[in-house]
Amino acid sequence: MQPDVEARLRFTTGGVAQSRSSGTPARYVSVLYRCRACSTYVAGLTLSYVGCDRQHIPRVRLTTDLQEIPVDLDNRSHAPAPVIRATAFVGRWPKIPWPDIPDATFPPTTATLISGPTEAVLIDAMYLKADVQDLGDLIERTGKTLTTIYITHAHADHYAGLGPLLERFPSARCVAMPHVVEAMREGMELHNQQWEALFGDTYVIPGPLPEPMEGRTLFVDGSPVEIIEVKQADIHPTSIVHVPEAGVVVAGDSVYNEIYPMLGLSTPEEWSNWLETVALVESLNPRMIVAGHRRPDGDDHAVQTMIAQTRAYIQDFAAAYEVAKNAEDLVAIMTAKYPHHGNLWSLQFSAGSVFQFRETGATASDDVPVTS
Ligand SMILES: [Zn+2]
Ligand SMILES: [Zn+2]
Repeated sequence: MQPDVEARLRFTTGGVAQSRSSGTPARYVSVLYRCRACSTYVAGLTLSYVGCDRQHIPRVRLTTDLQEIPVDLDNRSHAPAPVIRATAFVGRWPKIPWPDIPDATFPPTTATLISGPTEAVLIDAMYLKADVQDLGDLIERTGKTLTTIYITHAHADHYAGLGPLLERFPSARCVAMPHVVEAMREGMELHNQQWEALFGDTYVIPGPLPEPMEGRTLFVDGSPVEIIEVKQADIHPTSIVHVPEAGVVVAGDSVYNEIYPMLGLSTPEEWSNWLETVALVESLNPRMIVAGHRRPDGDDHAVQTMIAQTRAYIQDFAAAYEVAKNAEDLVAIMTAKYPHHGNLWSLQFSAGSVFQFRETGATASDDVPVTS
């Protein structure tokens, strides 16, 4: 309970305290109040959790659960860093040969390193040889032990690099949900044929498959990394990854960050399932979302914009699909609404695919395993 006080009179001292039970660090300042009834001075505390600059959680009283850590409030470099963190790696933005689209490109793809003091878990494995090399270099430079690679879904841009990464980090294992592993097994040969045509020898030809994982929780230095199967993203089966302690969602291809979303591998019926996935990501209240595709200079902390834009884009695409005369018309409507999104090819491909679906009842995912 807040004391019945007339005013905060002055700050007295400050520091960093830590919950004895959860270990959550918090910054505090001690404040003197004066009681209205008897004019006695009362000491109170204001806490804000370390890592939150907005001081969201004022007026939380000090309890016996807190243990003081002697740190100078004015020298924040001494404050303990968050123990579990996420680091996004963004790959190249390659040109691809595509009939009738002279400057087609494939969107930059991400992989995410979740790391603690000594261990690291990698989410998704990239696909271009040079990116896989750079990603491996980054992991090596952390000095942490890569224990696990987790693959969100059966698209080669997210899993092809796992072979070279397992060779480079032999103590790591690679896992995915069992039906994602099955989907990889079924699609791999066809994928390879088409992807070699797109990327030539810059592309890692996929080799080993992930092990089907039991359960839905991985650990980094004892902290949970939760795998959440979702109904739909650009394809299904698919998943997102939630790291509660870091406030991070690795969204796979369920959320796009200023890149045209790949809607050409799903049907209008499935788009409403995709919107449910976006709502689920939002409900986790993350501070950071790593989208499967984003600009090299994208902001992983622009959480609300990412959620709002992905949701609005799916709704607008579905509405435009109903009224557009043809694929070109659909592209024109969507580029007018989203002129700043990157990788126009993803929209052009999606528009072509959904009109093929309207005419034939089959999407591009049924015959051409282009992925994104
Ligand atoms: Zn992708
Ligand atoms: Zn995908």
